Amino acid sequence: MGQAKRRKEAGDRVSHCRTCTYCCSLPQIEALAKPAYRPCIHIAGGGCSIHGRPERPAACSAYACAYLTARLVNAPERNRIPHPLDCGAYFHRDPVEKVIFVFVDPARPFLWKASPLLVDFMRLQLRAGFVLFVTDRGRQMIIRDVATFAEILARDFVALADREGRPLDVPSFRESGASPPA
Ligand code: SF4
Ligand code: SF4
Repeated sequence: MGQAKRRKEAGDRVSHCRTCTYCCSLPQIEALAKPAYRPCIHIAGGGCSIHGRPERPAACSAYACAYLTARLVNAPERNRIPHPLDCGAYFHRDPVEKVIFVFVDPARPFLWKASPLLVDFMRLQLRAGFVLFVTDRGRQMIIRDVATFAEILARDFVALADREGRPLDVPSFRESGASPPA
């Protein structure tokens, strides 16, 4: 999705996304009939092969994660949001509903918890009244306060739910062959 903004055409890497393709791989994208955890078929060479073409969904053209958005608008918080590849997760905010949607890289599921930048930023957002919706290895967690956030950081609740045999919130995680929990 937003990652394609860095490529105006094949071979032209122009933006802040670097080689990230999280938002083209991790979420479900209805316009492309793409299930969660499967890379979009249009990813090519680390970019979007249909960038600038009419068949590229509007949802893709409109999307930018919080990291990219902060840089595009030169937001004051731009240096407080780590690059998704550096923290193993990306997110976007809904400022109206005060919700933050976080998607965790299943190949590196613990990196986001070890990122001081990301953790500090999320704590600030929780104190400001935002709710976190975290999607991690096919499971979804809703975090409404810093105390719950601390518990999530301290324990692997995804592994716990797996051990207890609880059904996945995003069944396509298993079907996708994405990396299992480490
Ligand atoms: S169409 Fe392009 S921008 Fe949209 S998900 Fe696929 S690769 Fe990403
Ligand atoms: S998650 Fe952010 S940095 Fe990564 S490709 Fe999408 S818009 Fe770019």
